[in-house]
Amino acid sequence: MIPSAPRYLVDIDVSTTPQVFTDTLIIGSGVAGLRAALAAARHGSVLIVTKDTIRESNTEYAQGGVAAVLSKADSVDVHVGDTLSAGVGLCEEDVVRMVVTEGPERLREVLDWGGNFDRKDGEVLLTREGGHSRHRIAHAGGDATGHELQNVFIRKVKEADIRVWDYSFLVDLLTRDGECLGALVQAQAGERRIVWAGATLLASGGACQIYRESTNPAVSTGDGIAAALRAGAVCRDLEFVQFHPTVLYIAGAARKLISEAVRGEGGVLRNLAGERFMDRYDERAELAPRDIVSRAITSEMAARGESHVLLDMRGLGADRIASRFPGIADTCRSFGVDPATDAVPVRPSAHYFVGGVKVDRNGETTIRRLYGCGEVTASGVHGANRLGSNSLLEGLVFGARAGEHAGQRASGPPADAVRSFRGKGPRPAREHLDLLDMRNSLTSLVGRAAGILRAHEPLQSARQTLDRWAQYALVRRFDAPAGWELQNMMTISRLLIEAAWLREESRGAHARRDFPERDDARWRGHLNLKIRGEPTYTPLGSTEEVQIDRGPENA
Ligand SMILES: Cc1cc2nc3c(=O)[nH]c(=O)nc-3n(C[C@H](O)[C@H](O)[C@H](O)COP(=O)(O)OP(=O)(O)OC[C@H]3O[C@@H](n4cnc5c(N)ncnc54)[C@H](O)[C@@H]3O)c2cc1C
Repeated sequence: MIPSAPRYLVDIDVSTTPQVFTDTLIIGSGVAGLRAALAAARHGSVLIVTKDTIRESNTEYAQGGVAAVLSKADSVDVHVGDTLSAGVGLCEEDVVRMVVTEGPERLREVLDWGGNFDRKDGEVLLTREGGHSRHRIAHAGGDATGHELQNVFIRKVKEADIRVWDYSFLVDLLTRDGECLGALVQAQAGERRIVWAGATLLASGGACQIYRESTNPAVSTGDGIAAALRAGAVCRDLEFVQFHPTVLYIAGAARKLISEAVRGEGGVLRNLAGERFMDRYDERAELAPRDIVSRAITSEMAARGESHVLLDMRGLGADRIASRFPGIADTCRSFGVDPATDAVPVRPSAHYFVGGVKVDRNGETTIRRLYGCGEVTASGVHGANRLGSNSLLEGLVFGARAGEHAGQRASGPPADAVRSFRGKGPRPAREHLDLLDMRNSLTSLVGRAAGILRAHEPLQSARQTLDRWAQYALVRRFDAPAGWELQNMMTISRLLIEAAWLREESRGAHARRDFPERDDARWRGHLNLKIRGEPTYTPLGSTEEVQIDRGPENA
C-alpha cells in the first residue's frame, strides 16, 4: 500500500544500544495501559513507557464518564442493544457482550480502589447521554471522570512498584519471523534503549491529531498504530473517525469539548438565528447518536453559511451548571462566555479514532507476543461508531484482559536476537524539511478529504498527494519525535484515506456524499489494511479475509 514506507524509522544495532529486559512492556499510560500494567504485574516484571508525563493522555481529559450497567432499571441486553445500534451493524456482538458484561465489575474495582465517583446517598450517580436509552454513565468530579481514573491508577501503579519511564518515546517495535521481541525507545534527552520484552502491549491511544480540528491532546499522533503497521500488523476500521458534535468554537481557545452529558441534562442546540434544529434531522433530537448530531450540525452550518452553532444550557440554571459542569463553565468563562446567561458557540471536531490495530478478545494482535488495548485497537466493540462513554469502559475491560494475557504469555527473547539483532532505517536527507509546514498541510488535507462528509474526488486526489509526499517525507531519517510523529501521521492518514475511498456507502461515522445509503450487501464487514499488501475485506462475524468488491470508480 505504501511502497516507500521503511520497516524501521532509524537504524537499530544491539552492539551500540543499551539493552533493558522486562517480562511485559506497556506503551502508554492512559486508562488502558495503566489497567493492563496492574494485571500484567501479577505475573512478572512490567515496564511502562510513556511519551509525556504519566498523566498526559486522552484519558486525563475524559469528561462525561464510564458507561456501565449499575442500576436495576438497566440490563446487559439493553446496553448491548444501544451499543449495536450506535455501531450501525458493524459491532462484533460477542465482543460487545463481553465488554458490557465485565464492565460493572471493572468499575466496581475502581470504586474499591478509592475512585471518588459522584454519589448521592451513597449510591453512584448515573446520568444519560446521547444513544443510551438508560441512565448508566458514572462520573467523577462532575465532568472530570478521566482525571479521577488517572488518580486511582497512577496511585495503584506506584503502590505496585511498577517501573515507569516518562518522556520516553516508542520509536519502533522489534520483530523477527512474525514475533514481537520488544521495542526501541528514545528518552527525552535523546538516548535510545532497546527494551527486550516477553510480551509487548500497545496502549498508545488514537490518532485524532491527524485532523487540524481535534479535541485530543498533542500526544494522540497514532505512533503505536503506525509502529504496528510497520511491523506488519493488520489494522481495520480506519475509515471510522468520530467527530464530537459540540466542541468549543472561540478564536484562541483550545478545541475543548462540551460533554454530551450537557445535552443529556437538557442542553439544546440552536442555529445562529436562535432556532432549535435537531428535531428536523432526527426524532431523538439532541439525544441522537454523535454521528447524526455532527452531520446535522455540519448540514445546518452549510445550509445557513454559518461557521458554528450554539449550545444553549441556560435552561439548566446557574446552580446546576456550577455543580454538574464546573470545568466546562470555567473554561467558557475564561473566554468571556457565561453558560448560565449566554449560549455557547460550538462546532464538531475529530474526537475518537474508532479504527486501529486488529485484536482478538484477549487483546492479541496479528503479530505473536504483541498485544493491544484501548483506543489504539479495533476490537470490534464500537462497530462503525462509538457509543459515548463506552471507550473508558473498553479501556478498563480490555486493559485487564490484555494485561492478564500478555503477563501470562511473557517469555524471554531469543538469545541470538539479543546478541545480533539489527534493523535498517532510511538514510538522512540533505534537504531540510519544514516539519511544521508539512504537518499543517497534512492535517488540513485529511480534514478536507476525510472529514465529516466525504466523496470520491477529494479522497482520490488526497491519495495521490499523500503518495507524492511519502516519496520524500517517509524515506528520510529523523532523529527526534517531531519527525517520527509526522511520519506516523502520514502513514495512518494514507491508510485511512484508502479505506474511506474504498467504502462506497455511508455508515456510522463514515459518510459519503456520493454514496449516502448504507449498503449491507457489499459493506457489512471490516476493511483490513497493512502497509505492505493490498487491503482486504472481512464480512462481519467472520475471520476470513477476502478480496474487496471494488466499484466501477475504484476498479
Ligand atoms: C476531551 C475528551 C473527552 C472524552 N470523554 C470521554 C468520556 O467521557 N467517556 C469515554 O468513555 N471516553 C471519553 N473520551 C475518549 C477516551 O478518553 C479515550 O478513548 C480513552 O481515554 C483512551 O484511553 P487509552 O488508554 O486507550 O489511550 P490514552 O488515554 O490516549 O493514552 C495513550 C497513552 O499512550 C502514550 N503514547 C502515545 N504515543 C506514544 C509513544 N510514541 N511512545 C510512548 N507513549 C506514547 C500517551 O502519552 C498516553 O499516555 C474522551 C476523549 C477526549 C479527548
